[in-house]
Amino acid sequence: MDQSADTIFGRILRGEIPSDQVHSDALCIAFRDVQPQAPVHLLVIPRQPLVNLADASAADGPLLGHLLLVAAQVARQEGLTAWRTVINSGADAGQTVFHLHLHVIGGRPLQWPPG
Ligand code: AMP
Repeated sequence: MDQSADTIFGRILRGEIPSDQVHSDALCIAFRDVQPQAPVHLLVIPRQPLVNLADASAADGPLLGHLLLVAAQVARQEGLTAWRTVINSGADAGQTVFHLHLHVIGGRPLQWPPG
């Protein structure tokens, strides 16, 4: 079942609601988070509606690798030399939108561990 077809990110991918895009290619897009947690806060999402990492299989390996490389590319594009890449999988981990997304967060010192 295509659980993420009707998420807000599905609507962004279909062009039904606007986003501040910083990258687009055949496999994914990247855009600015509407509630940024740092001076730079981007989201990289696959066009294919995976729910999260738990929903991914071995066949998704090349796509997942591509998403990581795009995360690094858009971080550099924003002038970042240090950043954090986060993927929340599941509600208890903080996932609120059930369409796989990589957060790219930077532009300020980041604390560890996260809450
Ligand atoms: P997560 O909590 O890991 O599922 O992250 C979802 C993220 O999507 C949050 O950081 C939200 O601020 C962000 N978000 C929700 N709706 C939008 C939107 N329309 N455009 C951009 N970012 C969004």
